[in-house]
Amino acid sequence: MRNPYAYHRRPTRAVASIGHDNVPRVFVNLSQSIITRMEDLTSVGHDYDGATDKWTMRDQSAEFFYMGGRPLPFMAPSGTRQVLDYDTWLTHDDKFYCVPLFDVENYLSEAPRHNVLNVVRCDVSTLSEDLIQRLSGDSTAVLLLSSNARSYYTNMRAACDAMLMQANTTPIIFEHVLQAPSLDEVVLFAATDLGGLFVDGFGDGLMLSVGTQGNMDNALSLRLAFNVLQAARTRMSKTEYISCPSCGRTLFDLQETTSLIRSHTDHLKGVKIGIMGCIVNGPGEMADADYGYVGSGPERITLYRGQEIVQRNIPTAGAVDALIDIIKTDARWIERA
Ligand code: SF4
Repeated sequence: MRNPYAYHRRPTRAVASIGHDNVPRVFVNLSQSIITRMEDLTSVGHDYDGATDKWTMRDQSAEFFYMGGRPLPFMAPSGTRQVLDYDTWLTHDDKFYCVPLFDVENYLSEAPRHNVLNVVRCDVSTLSEDLIQRLSGDSTAVLLLSSNARSYYTNMRAACDAMLMQANTTPIIFEHVLQAPSLDEVVLFAATDLGGLFVDGFGDGLMLSVGTQGNMDNALSLRLAFNVLQAARTRMSKTEYISCPSCGRTLFDLQETTSLIRSHTDHLKGVKIGIMGCIVNGPGEMADADYGYVGSGPERITLYRGQEIVQRNIPTAGAVDALIDIIKTDARWIERA
């Protein structure tokens, strides 16, 4: 029986770089975007330098581009793959780095497949037992599961449970299209619809398409996808800060101090820093942080590594540098690019 208090990732097989022990992968839907130049991929995390003819991937870069029926007119950055509608894939020259997207009907037919990776797109309402069984016997299939229903979370959760009950190990990519009048609502729905699924160990990837007032925004979709994964602690791609809300006990200007620490450390990868206003409750509130910067008296700071005190009551003036030194000692420091 599953322990409800412990994190369990749904067991999945590895298909290409998706599923099993791989971090959840980020897909972007570029099927409606006009992509004609390499520079057009900047919004989804890939920077092209024409002088050196080289691509640079950022910490938050899409790994799979869903291009629909319009493949990229140039070679995709290395380490990425294009997902093409099945008919387009069939006639494309590169049938290895490009992979096909099947609808359910096509997938259940005897249509030719990719040797390594086949993406099957399915609305949750059409996920039948037959389909789950077919997927179970296919070591190349990845399910791109979508739902237009308002009850996105519960529908997805039910589908994941059905697959779990059948001991199916096909990786699942959640597809979600979110349109809302304001950015706040988009962020809220992305968090409530998807966050819980990843926290509960479901999901081997995410294809999020978000927009406000009718305009889809690829850069926002990408950023939000990585933020959902980071908040669910399933893929850390940037520094994370935990700060207390502040109260009468707070011993320093929390906003100013947080911005100062952020300005020195926001380029680090996967480091969690707690910034707490007092030593009475601070250490408890930052229980899962890697490092803690905690007010312990007027103009005094105590620094933590996890829950262990490393430097007690040091002057505020040198405390940020001392925090950086601790991170360096742990070999978790990198210089800013
Ligand atoms: S950590 Fe201390 S200062 Fe911050 S909110 Fe809690 S009690 Fe207040």
